[in-house]
Amino acid sequence: MTTLLIATRNTHKVQEISQILSSAFRCLSLKDFPGAPDVIEDAGTFEGNARKKAVELARWIAVHPEIQSTPSIDGDFFVLADDSGLEVDALNGEPGVRSARFAAGPGETSGNSSDAANNAKLLRLLENVPAEKRTGRFRCLLALTSVARAGRIESEFTTLIVDGACEGRIAFSPSGAGGFGYDPLFIPDGYQVSFAELGSEIKNKLSHRARALEKLNRNM
Ligand code: IMP
Repeated sequence: MTTLLIATRNTHKVQEISQILSSAFRCLSLKDFPGAPDVIEDAGTFEGNARKKAVELARWIAVHPEIQSTPSIDGDFFVLADDSGLEVDALNGEPGVRSARFAAGPGETSGNSSDAANNAKLLRLLENVPAEKRTGRFRCLLALTSVARAGRIESEFTTLIVDGACEGRIAFSPSGAGGFGYDPLFIPDGYQVSFAELGSEIKNKLSHRARALEKLNRNM
């Protein structure tokens, strides 16, 4: 069976990706590799950050051959990195790549803000924006890098990139207890309630992450 190392410490992302892919892949996460390095997300684009995470982790595994000889990793082995966020049209695409640290200062490249602080800032910035102008989307970029076999050289870290988006609008107040991040404020097109109220079964069918994972499945 093909093994995927999901290159994130965000337990919600791991849960969503594993729920969507679990029957086809053995999904591991950085929790299974406590010594894995922290990759700084400073590339400036979702694609750049996803690629950087996938390649740096694949390179780290390449110099730790004992990981590849773990008995449970018996088939192909890939690193899968997700970089994602919310783009709000009335804010010219913000928070975008800064979604996780939106409530922190503009120069902040590490150290995420709490979901509550990010959501509060978003609502504050959209205070005077009417319903019809509160449009936006979640975007997800996935990078899949094949784990190097012994002796491979750097240029061989080929990476497949796929993306997914989910259009919707930003509510006037948070609602629902499911999901994570901006889910309590995001109402996907075609629905009247937030991702956090819709629950994981519906979110995992129409989310940006689900759409990117569908493309990945088709291209693997
Ligand atoms: P990343 O870990 O740098 O990709 O940060 C992603 C950030 O975007 C998260 O911390 C959330 O704030 C937001 N985000 C990404 N995907 C979702 C989602 O599915 N629901 C809600 N918020 C999300």
